[in-house]
Amino acid sequence: MAEASGGERAWVWYGGQPSVDFVNTRRRRHAEPVEYLTEPADLAAWFAAADLAPARSGRARRAAGPDDALFARALDLREAVDSGIRAAVDGTAIPDTALDTLNAWLADTPSPRLHRDGPDVVLRGPADTDPALHALHALAADAAQLLGSPDRARLRVCPGPNCGGRFVDRSPSGRRRWCSMAVCGNRAKAAKHRETARD
Ligand SMILES: [Zn+2]
Repeated sequence: MAEASGGERAWVWYGGQPSVDFVNTRRRRHAEPVEYLTEPADLAAWFAAADLAPARSGRARRAAGPDDALFARALDLREAVDSGIRAAVDGTAIPDTALDTLNAWLADTPSPRLHRDGPDVVLRGPADTDPALHALHALAADAAQLLGSPDRARLRVCPGPNCGGRFVDRSPSGRRRWCSMAVCGNRAKAAKHRETARD
């Protein structure tokens, strides 16, 4: 397995939902996977780039990285989401292990509460939640909403030879083929052009 450092250049945002973008932090899954989350700091960087780190003071934000145990749980969640995506794409049943992992995350998510705000009330999650855990709860909820809704039929895997990116096809025709036209779509067009030129 190739390992890449999780610099900003590594992130892709064509997934259509945060939980799908999360799965795409590991790519080329069908061939030689490339792992972009190799250490907790990579995950903290991804949370910030994905705008999933809740707004806090600068110091708290810098200290918001997950520890090793939470990092391992995060990767476990990510792979469970991917199992769900692959089941949706293949038209098969989601494996029990993946379902159990997702449900354990949902069960672990604290419910929001109503707080007084002057004469009004506002709905807020617990303020003292660990920011990394908070982000993972949000990702689990996002994945559950996607996999448990008819949108699951819109999940796709990019057929680009060095890609395998996952995405939600929200095109009206439902025939989006590539993760992004700018990357795999153009590559395929260029390859086709070369083939035609040779004939
Ligand atoms: Zn692609």
